[in-house]
Amino acid sequence: MRCRSCRGPAVIEIRRHHAAFCTEHFLAMFRTQVEKAIRRFRMMGPDDRILVAVSGGKDSLALWDVLLGLGYDATGLYLGLGIGGYSDRSHDAARTFAKHRGVRLLTVDLEQEHGFDVPTAGQRGSRSTCAVCGLSKRYVFNRAALEGGFDVVATGHNLDDGAATLLGNTLRWQTQAIARQSPALPAHEGMVRKVKPLHRLSELETAAYAFLRGIDYVVEECPLVAGNTQLRQKEAMNAIEHASPGTKAQFFLGYLERGAPLFRSEDRADLRSCEGCSQPTTGRFCAFCRARAQILGERLSGGPEPSDREVAEELADEVLPVEIYDGAGR
Ligand code: AMP
Ligand code: ZN
Ligand code: ZN
Repeated sequence: MRCRSCRGPAVIEIRRHHAAFCTEHFLAMFRTQVEKAIRRFRMMGPDDRILVAVSGGKDSLALWDVLLGLGYDATGLYLGLGIGGYSDRSHDAARTFAKHRGVRLLTVDLEQEHGFDVPTAGQRGSRSTCAVCGLSKRYVFNRAALEGGFDVVATGHNLDDGAATLLGNTLRWQTQAIARQSPALPAHEGMVRKVKPLHRLSELETAAYAFLRGIDYVVEECPLVAGNTQLRQKEAMNAIEHASPGTKAQFFLGYLERGAPLFRSEDRADLRSCEGCSQPTTGRFCAFCRARAQILGERLSGGPEPSDREVAEELADEVLPVEIYDGAGR
């Protein structure tokens, strides 16, 4: 195998591109794909302050590395989910990267800040562990960005994540969720811009990038994720991709180019301030405050309390804020 660019010995073959690359040209191709994503969706500008949500895994550390390399002002944010040794090792990986690169890493601990951790939440609430974890992440990322004066939150979601989520939404024809699947969600009252600059790159490519850049990342998956719906959808996509390389990218990137305009919906619900935390919401209390109250067994003041079932449905059906919903249903 020879590198497509320089004909030197290749270190990686990308079947969907029908091409192989040496280290230097693979890294260059990777950066070009990120730049293309940023440009195409106007994700960020040179003066923006960027908050990168860093889980300690390959995707988010690769993202942070590329953004720093491209000269962006990028600060990391680690959210401690309290998932035993897995969380400790993830935090260590994020901290080590920040230290080596001389960049700032902010840390929010879910238990310390909000009084519960993810394993407890999964046992006590009416929703799945992954749902409450996803909700907490979206909530904390947005709030930390607002409080820290950041312009945009960047996450490490890759092509595999996008394709699996789109597959799940399509299988159930969740048209509103499909319409909201965008690599860049604009800012609006109380919500900062959210972007996914790695959405053109596969999981295999982000792993190769992190490895070739010598980034020490946590390889293990979250121990609570077993049986998770999105994981099964990823496996299904991989089986199709294996039989016909390029399908994953055609499905997701093709949707963004040609499908998304057909799904665009006009739903603009009225947002007001959550009575618990002031974040924007469609109801009196935001989805996070309702979930938190349920987990802690607290009552939200005023009005009858919704049943567990109502809370779960509300969470799943929340029309807006889109950013709070995006990626849910895993
Ligand atoms: P996941 O939802 O685990 O697939 O992760 C998707 C993206 O969310 C990652 O690429 C990170 O950008 C971000 N993320 C996940 N877990 C954390 C965490 N504990 N702290 C900060 N960011 C996270
Ligand atoms: Zn080369
Ligand atoms: Zn709230």
